[in-house]
Amino acid sequence: MSSPRCPSCERPVKLPPENKTFPFCSERCRTIDLGRWLGEEFRVPTRQVEEDEDGQGLPPGAGSTPQDA
Ligand SMILES: [Zn+2]
Repeated sequence: MSSPRCPSCERPVKLPPENKTFPFCSERCRTIDLGRWLGEEFRVPTRQVEEDEDGQGLPPGAGSTPQDA
């Protein structure tokens, strides 16, 4: 009952040396888990970019009022 499971897809995995991608079940799951870690690291500094998108307003002179001609 103590069979290891893949951290990515949580399926039962085989032990090394038969499984070269241990503790993952396959090369794909190892890549997915690695990408997940990198994604979380890159996600932190992107908060400032999201706040910058909020500074959009009407361009100056859009509603020009006709003055005394
Ligand atoms: Zn897997």
